[in-house]
Amino acid sequence: MAKVTGFIEHNRKDRQYIDVKQRLKNFKEFTKPLNATELKNQASRCMDCGIPYCHSGCPVNNIIPDWNNLVYEGDFKKAIEVLHSTNNFPEFTGRICPAPCEAACTLNIEDTPVTIKTIECSIVDKAWSNGWIKPEIAQKKINKSIAIIGSGPAGLAAAQQLARIGYKVTVFEKNKKIGGLLRYGIPDFKMEKNLIDRRIDQMRKEGVNFKTSVEVGSDITLTEIKRKFDATLITIGSEEARDLNIPGRNVEGIYPAMDFLPLQNKAVSGEIKNSEIKINAKDKHVVVIGGGDTGSDCIGTSFRQGAKKVTQLEIMPMPPKRENKELTWPYWPHKLRTSSSQEEGAVRDWSVMTKSFKTANGKVKGLECIKLDSSLKPIKNSEFFIKADLVLLAMGFVHPKHDGLISQSKLKKDEKGNLLADTKNYLTSDNSIYAAGDARRGQSLVVWAIREGREAASAIHGHLSS
Ligand SMILES: Cc1cc2nc3c(=O)[nH]c(=O)nc-3n(C[C@H](O)[C@H](O)[C@H](O)COP(=O)(O)OP(=O)(O)OC[C@H]3O[C@@H](n4cnc5c(N)ncnc54)[C@H](O)[C@@H]3O)c2cc1C
Ligand code: SF4
Repeated sequence: MAKVTGFIEHNRKDRQYIDVKQRLKNFKEFTKPLNATELKNQASRCMDCGIPYCHSGCPVNNIIPDWNNLVYEGDFKKAIEVLHSTNNFPEFTGRICPAPCEAACTLNIEDTPVTIKTIECSIVDKAWSNGWIKPEIAQKKINKSIAIIGSGPAGLAAAQQLARIGYKVTVFEKNKKIGGLLRYGIPDFKMEKNLIDRRIDQMRKEGVNFKTSVEVGSDITLTEIKRKFDATLITIGSEEARDLNIPGRNVEGIYPAMDFLPLQNKAVSGEIKNSEIKINAKDKHVVVIGGGDTGSDCIGTSFRQGAKKVTQLEIMPMPPKRENKELTWPYWPHKLRTSSSQEEGAVRDWSVMTKSFKTANGKVKGLECIKLDSSLKPIKNSEFFIKADLVLLAMGFVHPKHDGLISQSKLKKDEKGNLLADTKNYLTSDNSIYAAGDARRGQSLVVWAIREGREAASAIHGHLSS
C-alpha cells in the first residue's frame, strides 16, 4: 500500500487544462501534467484494496494498485514494466480512455477516485522521455506468418504481441498512415499523432511489416491473403455510420462525422493542405447531432476551425448530474458528463428529435426539431427551428462495412452485422481467420480494442503452436 493515510491527507487533484481561449488557437494537446510532488501525493491516495475494483473496471485489467505504489516510491522504471505487462499503449489510454477504472475505484463511492488515468499517463510519458522504452525483439523466430488487416489499436496490439513471440507479422492498412481511428478519427488536441509514430517505429524494429494504402478486398483479396499466411486476423473496425434519413438529408452541408474529422487530422499532419479541407466549420453555424465522443470531437474541431456557433443535439433525456452510487458502483454510471470540447462553448440540448432539414438551393439552412418526453414520444406544439450551415451526424456506427472484404468472404456475421467470433478463440466461421476489436464487438473503446488484440494474439499463438 502506497501510504496508509494518503487518502485522508490528500484531496483528489487531477490534470488541469490550458484555458479555452489559448487552446482554441491550435490543434495541440492542452492538458497540464501534475508536478512530481502532486503525482506522489495522488498515488499515495490508493488504498491497495483487498478487492481492487479498479482492476475489474479496467478492460485490460491494469494492475493499478501496484503501479500506484511504485509511483509513490518514485520507482517509475518498475512502474512502466508493470503497466506494459497488461497494456501495449498506455500513452493512448492515458490520454483518451474514459477511465472506467476510476468509476470502479473504491474512493469513487465518495466521488474522489484515485487519479488513475493521470498516473498511468505520467508513468509512460516519463518512460519515453527517459529512453526506457525500447524495442523488445524476439530472441527466437517462428517460421509462421500472420496477416493482420486493419491498423487500429486492436490490430496494433495483436501485431506487437505476435511479433514479440517471434511470428512474421504483416499489417495491411487501406489508409496512407497507420493507426485507425487513433490517427484519423480522434483529433490531435486529444492525442497528438507523434505518439503513434513513435510506437510504429518501435514495432518496425520488433519486426512488424506494415503495408499501407492496401485495401483488402480491393487491392488484394482475402483468398490471396489466406493462401499466403498461416493465420489472418481481421481488425477493420466498425466504419458503417448510422445515418439520418429524413427529408432534406441529401443536400450540401450535411455530413457524417467521419467525413469531417479525418480532413483536419490529415491537414495537421501535413497529409493534405489546409486548402484541401473541403468540409470546414469556419464562420458557420454548426449543429452536431449525437452526444458521444465523436460528437465532442466534431465540436472541438469546429471551434478550432473558427465556427460562429456550435449546437449539439441529443435524442435521449438529460442524464442525472450524479449517479445513484448504491445502484451503480463499481459499474460505469449513467450520468451527465461534460467533455473538454463541450466546455469550449457548445450549446447542448437533450430530448430533441430532428424531423427534417430546411434547405435552399441545394444547401442546408437549418433543422426542424421537436422535443421528446421521457418515453421518447414527441411533445405536442414543441416544434422549433435551429439555423445551420453545417450539420455533422455523430450518431454512432452500426457495424463494419459490408462491401469489399466482408462481401467477398463467406464469414458469418452476428445479428448486429459484426463479424461472428467468440472471445475465447476469436475464430470466425473460417478456421484460419480471426476477428477482434470493433469489427467483432461493435463500436467501442480503444482500451477494449487493445484487450481484444492482445487476447486474439494469444488465441492465434495457442492454435498455431498446438
Ligand atoms: C471520432 C471518434 C472518436 C473516438 N474517441 C474515443 C476516445 O476518446 N476514447 C476511446 O476509448 N475510444 C474512442 N473512440 C472509439 C475508438 O477509436 C475505437 O473503439 C477503436 O479505435 C477501435 O479500434 P479497432 O482497432 O477495432 O478499429 P479502428 O481504429 O477503426 O481501425 C480499423 C482500421 O482498419 C482499416 N481497414 C478497414 N477496412 C480495411 C480493409 N478492407 N483493408 C485494410 N484496412 C482496412 C481502417 O482504415 C482502420 O485503420 C472514438 C471513435 C471515433 C469515431
Ligand atoms: S480501487 Fe482505487 S483505492 Fe482501491 S486499489 Fe484500486 S485505485 Fe487503489
